[in-house]
Amino acid sequence: MRKKILAGNWKMNLLHSEAEHLVNELNQKENLKKTSIEVILFPSSVYLQTVKEIANFSVGIQNISNKSLGAYTGEVAAEQANSMGAKYVLVGHSERREYFNEGDELLKEKVDAALRNELKVVFCCGEPLEIRQNGDPIKFVSKQIENSLFHLEAVAFDNIIIAYEPIWAIGTGLTASSTQAEEIHAAIRQLFSEKFGENVANAISILYGGSCNEKNAEELFACPNVDGGLIGGAALKSESFDRIAYYL
Ligand code: PEP
Repeated sequence: MRKKILAGNWKMNLLHSEAEHLVNELNQKENLKKTSIEVILFPSSVYLQTVKEIANFSVGIQNISNKSLGAYTGEVAAEQANSMGAKYVLVGHSERREYFNEGDELLKEKVDAALRNELKVVFCCGEPLEIRQNGDPIKFVSKQIENSLFHLEAVAFDNIIIAYEPIWAIGTGLTASSTQAEEIHAAIRQLFSEKFGENVANAISILYGGSCNEKNAEELFACPNVDGGLIGGAALKSESFDRIAYYL
């Protein structure tokens, strides 16, 4: 059985007191307590310690450097994230690819840095609108995965989760239909099967992200190859995040 995962990406939102308040509310929510799912919170890195101390959930960091400890002002090393108790790291989020010019090669180095330092990777991939409308989304997403992950040994995938997040659906209110999501999720699993075999393909969790909320989660999570969600906006509201968990 693949693990069901619900991850909340808080992005660069919330002041410290608001983050504390949100965690305290989330701790009380019934669906988030289900033992059948793993809940992961990705707060701003400056709140890692607070969230780690008070949350009843796993905690991850939204970004790490590709470099090891050293003279890189403003960066956070995987070693440091690990030493703060982060268990996961987001790599390849479309906002980092787009606004910070993070390309496949850099992301590959970040994946390696994470795995060297016992951080599990939530690797994000997804196509822009032009590719959805006029191109080949499966080919586009496959290349992102191949370029940043296919240098790894099969055993590394015990520590990797994929998040398929079509860029046109992130923060826009547009969501991939369950048919569109399932098509890409199944293709990603097939890609893993061809390269690393059935065992790796069947074990890897593939999350959907992109305006997932309490209204569309039921249909998306019913897809056989959707193993959970990476949630942005709706993760900032405890009620919505908990309702989404209900459907997992
Ligand atoms: C995200 O940032 O990963 C995300 C899916 O955002 P939203 O749910 O707001 O579209």
